[in-house]
Amino acid sequence: MIAIAKTKPEKGFEIIKKDIPKINDDEILIEVKFASICGSDVHAYVWDEWAKEEFNEFPRIIGHEIGGIVVEKGKNVKNLEIGDFVAIESHFWCNECYNCKVGNFHVCKNMKILGFGVDGGFANYLRIPYRNAIKVPNNIKKEFVPLMEPMGNAVDSVLAEDISSKNVLIVGCGPIGLMATAICKICGANKVITMDINENRLRISKIMGSDYLINPNKDNVYEKVMEITDNTGVDVILEFSGSSEGFKSAIKTIVEGGRVSLLGLYSKPFEFDFNNYFIMKNLRVYGIIGRKIYSTWFKTINLINKIDLTPIISHRIKLEDFEKGFEDILNGKAIKVLFEIS
Ligand SMILES: [Zn+2]
Ligand SMILES: [Zn+2]
Repeated sequence: MIAIAKTKPEKGFEIIKKDIPKINDDEILIEVKFASICGSDVHAYVWDEWAKEEFNEFPRIIGHEIGGIVVEKGKNVKNLEIGDFVAIESHFWCNECYNCKVGNFHVCKNMKILGFGVDGGFANYLRIPYRNAIKVPNNIKKEFVPLMEPMGNAVDSVLAEDISSKNVLIVGCGPIGLMATAICKICGANKVITMDINENRLRISKIMGSDYLINPNKDNVYEKVMEITDNTGVDVILEFSGSSEGFKSAIKTIVEGGRVSLLGLYSKPFEFDFNNYFIMKNLRVYGIIGRKIYSTWFKTINLINKIDLTPIISHRIKLEDFEKGFEDILNGKAIKVLFEIS
């Protein structure tokens, strides 16, 4: 089979040839049909400081947003049949640590992540523990299946608390912000405001259901949000940008007693006025990481057919053309890059 791999500790990936993986009794073999590029894969591609910490072995096959067909199963595998189409929970939990014992599998202390700590799925075949496979109902469009993993992040960000009738500011219109926009609308949010410096992403956020668009390079964020919310401020901020400037300008617009979900990762620590913007405002703040095992997956399965994810997919390419996909994400032309693998 062929696969996209990090072959040495430097920028870029290579296509490698490898034998089809052998499975153990608790694993399944998946023939990968669709896969998509995550922002974290881009960090691995450019080989930044964060990525250097994540890789322990070369070559390492990357990729963790995956959809494919079960083609082989170990003898201990339950509830999955050959031919089932599955999505993948990319976080491998240990089942033994304190966090796993109390049911917080998504923050397992011994977490391994597909495509970083273990070989991933930008390949023709992928072996995984069967408990990491999520059987997908037939009525879900197969090309959307790899997007269910990041959609789970959007689901947890939006639904950390009730969203119905709330005014929401979404900061950062990458794939997760765009999915969150649609989830807010179908879950009954009132006014949804999206914010990004990229006009194309803002345009797509409107297609996904955003009611108001803010470009902080052109608009005064505070004044515009106050105008939209009749001088009240937003009830909820969903932060996906990972930009400290984006976060700081957004947080000034939240109403007292509001709620914030933080998912975007910041490139470095920054100073922030906690007194005035968190404590005095009586905010509730959620750090969002991974997907709750398996409750987020059930929510995602129930929500995905109420949303059209097509506008988010900007590129459909073959594994061999990966460089185009990564470069177009880096230069801001791409939103979600989908690999069609046969
Ligand atoms: Zn990811
Ligand atoms: Zn654990």
